Amino acid sequence: MNSGEELPGVGTSGTDQDAGQGDFQNDIIMMVDSEPLTLGVLEAYLAQAGYRNFITLDDSARALELIKVEKPDCLLLDIHMPEVSGFDILKAVRADPETRQLSVIVLTSDTDPTTKLKALEMGVTDFLEKPVDSSELVLRMRNALIAKAYRDQLTYYDGLTRLPNRLLFQQRLETGVTSAQRSGSGLALMIVSVDRFQNVNDSLGPMAGDAVLIQIAQRLSGLARDAGYDQRKGQEGTARCLGRLGGDEFAISLPGVTSEEEITEIGEQISRIMKQPFEVEGEEVVLTASLGIARFPEDSIEASQLLKHAGAAKEAAKKEGRNTLQYYTSEFTERANERRSIEADLHKALDGHQLRLHFQPQLNGHDGLVCGMEALVRWHHPKRGLVQPEQFIPLAEENDLIIAIDAWVIEEACRQTHAWHLAGYDGLQVSVNVSARQFKQANLAGQIAAACERADLPPSSLTVELTEGLLMGNLDRTARLLHDLKNIGVTISVDDFGIGYSSLAYLKRFPIDELKIDRSFVRGVPGNHEDSAIVRAIVAMARSLELEIVAEGVETGEQLEFLKGLNCDRVQGLLMAAPLRDSEFFSFLAKNWNQLD
Ligand code: C2E
Ligand code: CA
Ligand code: CA
Repeated sequence: MNSGEELPGVGTSGTDQDAGQGDFQNDIIMMVDSEPLTLGVLEAYLAQAGYRNFITLDDSARALELIKVEKPDCLLLDIHMPEVSGFDILKAVRADPETRQLSVIVLTSDTDPTTKLKALEMGVTDFLEKPVDSSELVLRMRNALIAKAYRDQLTYYDGLTRLPNRLLFQQRLETGVTSAQRSGSGLALMIVSVDRFQNVNDSLGPMAGDAVLIQIAQRLSGLARDAGYDQRKGQEGTARCLGRLGGDEFAISLPGVTSEEEITEIGEQISRIMKQPFEVEGEEVVLTASLGIARFPEDSIEASQLLKHAGAAKEAAKKEGRNTLQYYTSEFTERANERRSIEADLHKALDGHQLRLHFQPQLNGHDGLVCGMEALVRWHHPKRGLVQPEQFIPLAEENDLIIAIDAWVIEEACRQTHAWHLAGYDGLQVSVNVSARQFKQANLAGQIAAACERADLPPSSLTVELTEGLLMGNLDRTARLLHDLKNIGVTISVDDFGIGYSSLAYLKRFPIDELKIDRSFVRGVPGNHEDSAIVRAIVAMARSLELEIVAEGVETGEQLEFLKGLNCDRVQGLLMAAPLRDSEFFSFLAKNWNQLD
């Protein structure tokens, strides 16, 4: 959409007239005709109507090359030309992804319907018959440019915030990089990602979420504009520009911004912008953002790489605990590559039967005999060997893979437990971990009931472990889902208890059976005064609510004695046994099962 540089042998010219063409008078109109006279007439008609930017070409062989350089908004194309015909050009234009969308008006002296039909089939936008009538030319041109502007809006702008979308932003960034390169200056690219935006959607609904995004976009464009943001044509390379990359992510390109002081200053401005409460549906929402920075030319000289790098820096900022600003370093790329490779392989893990369950015994706190086990997933990677869940569960939780993994875990845990029941250990209780995504699935209780039935395992032998954080979303919905689970007869346990939320009111409201004290507290007992106090308080509260108490992460004899002293119902940890393979667990059972059974 800008006139670019003049190429030798090609005429471009302009007039100062303005005949009320709205925004279109600056659009670039390219005309290709073998007769210079026709070109002159067309240009004169259009100039009279207020258009200013023309590219005229009488050598059709150069048309395609020139279209790609000049990026015209509309092409007026003669059909019958020696050497390369209008059809040839049209065909090439439509075949090239870069030019496919170009509006093409075909000039034809034919009244022959087959020529027109052929042009139509090849995707022509409109026709004009020679000799060209001036008012018809102006009308068709206007329609073609309106259609193009509409198409651009859909292609290049985000429908919600009206900001440039990722595609246009990347193009503008490329322009910015090119112009920084020419002038020997620098450029910073900043990605702004709203922290925990999903919470807004979850608690206030998607409409409210949209409203917040619109407000964020407005505030950020204020920031970009204050510093001389100017979208006027021809200035794109040196002006700041803002875009929405998708979801809750925005990007700002900052030409000329190179020093850490400037970047920090802008980061602080964004923090301030986000901290002012957003008002939606009578509620006030306060947000923070994580910022990732990549710089030209230090981090990359390519726009697409800069975007990737700033994205990696943003991810690191999120991991740093959010509300921070992070610069790109090359380690991010290595780590991201590693993650990507694990993620790609994870898709094969399920189909390739590479997942296994290990079982960590849970012992009765009073008599020290085995009463159950926690099923913990492992990944036997063909090259990496045994991969621990902490390396792949968080990755799987970012997409729907976790649902398939958890479904497999439940199926397999039920099958194995039933087999051990048949072998004589029929009181054995198995615990499985349920992730947030799976919990939110509409029919989790139905799926679990079906898995138990397939395995012929009574649901009362199954415990589902849910983390505190997962229970705190929408309270009504959570209560409903928990009651569904309770109704099929499984036991409900709150995993990692004590680290998440201080609000304990929900314990009374939800049909919960047991609390599993987080291993970070168990680690501190009995030496650490605070940890000991917390564990005592949790146990006392659980007693008053008639909940069972499980302690995990028991590693020392002192810890075990302390927990026994509090009458902890069950204990689990390395002191008794690590997570074991099925055969190992079976031997462990044989030695530690209630002999009276
Ligand atoms: P978690 O549910 O808290 O599981 C207990 C973790 O503590 C296990 O780590 C276990 O090996 C470890 N552990 C056991 N005894 C001790 C001890 O004495 N000291 C210490 N420091 N740690 C001990 P693991 O197996 O690596 O699992 C890590 C986390 O991965 C689990 O934490 C759970 O959140 C997740 N996870 C594991 N298996 C599954 C699964 O099948 N599905 C889902 N959704 N998540 C799983
Ligand atoms: Ca667990
Ligand atoms: Ca746990």
